[in-house]
Amino acid sequence: MTTDAVADAQIGRLPVALAVEEIRRDFPAMELKVYGKPLAYLDNAATSQKPRSVIDAEAHWYLESCANVHRGVHALSVRATAAYESARQKVASFVNAASAREIVFVKGTTDAVNLVAGSFARGRLDPGDEIVITGLEHHSNIVPWQLVCEDRGAKLRVARLDDRGDVDMEEFARLLSERTKMVAVSHVSNALGTINPVERMIELAHERDIPILIDGAQAVPHKKVDVQALGCDFYAFSSHKMFGPTGVGALYGRHDLLAAMPPYQGGGEMIRTVSFERTEYAEPPARFEAGTPNIAGAVGFGAAVDYLERIGLDRIEAYEDELLAYATAELEAVPGVRLIGTARRKAAVLSFVIGDVHAHDVGTILDQEGVAIRTGHHCAQPVMQHFGVPATSRASLAFYNTREEVDRLVVGLDKIREVFGG
Ligand code: PMP
Repeated sequence: MTTDAVADAQIGRLPVALAVEEIRRDFPAMELKVYGKPLAYLDNAATSQKPRSVIDAEAHWYLESCANVHRGVHALSVRATAAYESARQKVASFVNAASAREIVFVKGTTDAVNLVAGSFARGRLDPGDEIVITGLEHHSNIVPWQLVCEDRGAKLRVARLDDRGDVDMEEFARLLSERTKMVAVSHVSNALGTINPVERMIELAHERDIPILIDGAQAVPHKKVDVQALGCDFYAFSSHKMFGPTGVGALYGRHDLLAAMPPYQGGGEMIRTVSFERTEYAEPPARFEAGTPNIAGAVGFGAAVDYLERIGLDRIEAYEDELLAYATAELEAVPGVRLIGTARRKAAVLSFVIGDVHAHDVGTILDQEGVAIRTGHHCAQPVMQHFGVPATSRASLAFYNTREEVDRLVVGLDKIREVFGG
């Protein structure tokens, strides 16, 4: 978004829809054409497009500050370290962590969950203990817990979903017991759009002194997240879903918990002293960042946070809510379309099936129209099993999407009905 447009929008001179046209100019990908048609990018839950400021920040780092961090006394290394640590500070402020020491740079959400499973949960689990998750989790918030449960003889318990795709909160509460050593839940489901009542889930877990991790991969791009207000113990998210580079993300962890955790991986950067007899580990977050980190990625991540804050998460959420309501009504009006996931509180994800057309065919035909959506199980096979479908088609929206793009999706679906009947 151009600076003037941001200022105008923030003081309410521009209606939100007009500001979106300005925003689109910040994203080079919005100019792309596929098969000669303008790209309508509706696959934001998989990854988001990047504004020029993010691309420039990363390029700028390679052009002018490329050196390793934390090790050098020379000017470029000092510059690189300052850029890396400033990105950490930006990410910490973005989620309102109490301190930048509570932000560990990781590869992404998957890496963050594995870190907590391997370093935190493993040591707390005895045979017969339990970890509680929900029925709408992404594979990356299922499999790391399964691995650690298998290793320790512990059991994974799953709070089931209702027909709309909301977690059955009575069952969730019932599953928590003296055997529960960890809870891990998504803030927002990537397959259904369900916004989990994480405030209540955290409260219920903490009533029993159970630590809780929130998978925020699909929440941070769409709504303001305040980890201190939530009071969660861990919060995991990925830069690439929030308009930043791929290959980097963050684990927020309460400092007292991080400080008591053993390293996840060994190597350079994560130590204080090393000898063949004994190694002393660095304080967090360095303890969990073995090896040369993704410095350029972190710098781009910081630029993405700057960009989101300039637009304002409250405005983003309001705009996307309105666009979701429009898209929901439009899709429901298409004969043969069945929405999968109609939770009471939803983010801008529309999973659907149309007649008995295979999702892959839906995706391919829409692609020919320049409309990019996702098809398949969305790394959430248990969700597909719950709804009795092998796969869905999924349109996932961001603040640069428009009603016109939603209309193009609907026109594409009409073509699919013509081809397949119905
Ligand atoms: N959790 C959720 C809810 C997700 O949507 C995703 C990505 N689709 C992940 C975790 C994993 O994120 P990443 O692939 O960036 O590690």
